[in-house]
Amino acid sequence: MLQRTPKAFKMRQLKQMPLAVSSPTEPLPAQAPALPRLRVSKLCIAVQGATPAELFSRAESARKDSGFIEFRLDSLHKPAAALPELKTFLARHRDVTAIATCRRKPLGGHFTGSLNSEIELLQKAAEAGAHIVDLEVESAEQATRPQLAKFRAALRAAGAVLLISSHDFSRTRRPDGLNQTAQRIAAFEPEFVKVVSTARSLTDNLSVLHMVQDQSLNAHVVGIAMGEEGLISRVLSPRAGAAFTFASLSEGTETAAGQVSARTLLDIYRLEQIDQATRIFGVAGNPISHSLSPLMHVTAFRRENVNAVMLPLKVKTLDDLLTVIRDLPLDGVAVTMPLKQEVLPHLANMDPLTARIGACNTLRTGADGKLYGFNTDVAGIIRPLERRMRLKGARILVLGAGGAARAAVFGLVEQGADVTIVNRTHEKAAALARKAKAHVLKQAALAKSRFDAIINTTPCGMTGFKQQLPVKENELNAALVFDLVYTPMETPLLKLAKSRGLAVISGLEMFVQQGARQFEIWTGKPAPESEMLRVVELELRRHPQ
Ligand code: NAP
Repeated sequence: MLQRTPKAFKMRQLKQMPLAVSSPTEPLPAQAPALPRLRVSKLCIAVQGATPAELFSRAESARKDSGFIEFRLDSLHKPAAALPELKTFLARHRDVTAIATCRRKPLGGHFTGSLNSEIELLQKAAEAGAHIVDLEVESAEQATRPQLAKFRAALRAAGAVLLISSHDFSRTRRPDGLNQTAQRIAAFEPEFVKVVSTARSLTDNLSVLHMVQDQSLNAHVVGIAMGEEGLISRVLSPRAGAAFTFASLSEGTETAAGQVSARTLLDIYRLEQIDQATRIFGVAGNPISHSLSPLMHVTAFRRENVNAVMLPLKVKTLDDLLTVIRDLPLDGVAVTMPLKQEVLPHLANMDPLTARIGACNTLRTGADGKLYGFNTDVAGIIRPLERRMRLKGARILVLGAGGAARAAVFGLVEQGADVTIVNRTHEKAAALARKAKAHVLKQAALAKSRFDAIINTTPCGMTGFKQQLPVKENELNAALVFDLVYTPMETPLLKLAKSRGLAVISGLEMFVQQGARQFEIWTGKPAPESEMLRVVELELRRHPQ
């Protein structure tokens, strides 16, 4: 619904726009200033600083990623003192388009001054070279008509334009409500209309995108839902017709909740490449912000020339996810626990193995709009093993009887392996073994048993998990050990196996192989596995989880 090709986006010409809400007879400055830049870049980097030195050093760094910068003057103790530096900065960097913002405390900013001081400061920022100034709609409504007219004339004389913004820090209203807010702003005829809300669900993004679509036919509009759940709006609002979106300079310097860094928006979420034809995928779960799937998949999309992107979706309820899949729409979703099971009744079809496992980690939206389910965890376990051994008749021990174990056991039995399950709760192992035609063993009997391979599907050894090893050293009786855990990359179990001269497979290989299979299902192309492995490994070395 939201991927329609927008009708020619009407760029309103400044000269056609009334400059003030009142005093049409107000004299214009004798010399018409140069037209302010209305055709701005898609990406505005918002910078703040505890001191002017910090603010301008961050602005200097931001220039590498975008020539469009918002200066949050309200982050400074004395914003007015930074104006000479703003003037010098903008004179030195004529390629930069600047927004000046000095939001007052009651409206969600840090500025403790009065409305008059804010207006005066924004006017001076325009005179110092800022191209756009941001005034909150509440401030515009509080100001007197002559005060506003004088302000607009001063901006015009300085060659700057006005952006009027509204911020709702508690919720996102339905599209009608957001449109009303946009119209409340539009009544002042600013050059930019900015409506910011707070996302409490993924569906809130749909409201924002609808509002952007509606309003973009008449105005330069910006629409964003703050918070982690609002990521879709940050990435996709320009496609729906927004003039631009905001990013932070880097992780840790965000000026609003849910802001992502400019590099993330550009490199992982492909802001500059997204167009009407871009296929949108998601990885859904909670928590999800640290998922490596978007990085892995965008690397594959880029390498194989697929016009697609993957976004992390913080899901609180399945209904919320299903609404976004249907209405955005999403082309496919990688789902994590507990959604892997919850989603089953909503599938139009799934392959027989996925049905037997009773969990699906991959959704594909068919051309008919229906959902089809797959379990690529199976490929994540089978592929690394079959590259190293013949699975038919192989004696394989699976430690654990949870979700990942089910994929391993059903997948391996299907390949003709002789599978034995050991689990802390023996009854669960016995039940799984019965269903999958596998064997079951008590842990006490392990020391006397021998296998071709051992697969750990318990969380033992995972960063932050108390228990380090799922078995004792004398129970490690196999030629090959496969640990599904991949944080850390080398788990205590793999270290122990290596020290005993055993072959090992890391959980990272499973992660990449299950992702490779997803890529094949979604695109019909072979996955660039080595490239996918390389980026994920590099990321985990840079930022161990
Ligand atoms: P799950 O459904 O919760 O199952 C966990 C299993 O581990 C259960 O059988 C549980 O035994 C057992 N277990 C838990 N704590 C234990 C302990 N202290 N000692 C012995 N056994 C213990 O979890 P899951 O979804 O299967 O995931 C399991 C692991 O696989 C996770 O660490 C996850 O990161 C990893 N995984 C990796 C990938 C990948 O791509 N590499 C993909 C999926 C999962 P009880 O039945 O007694 O509770």
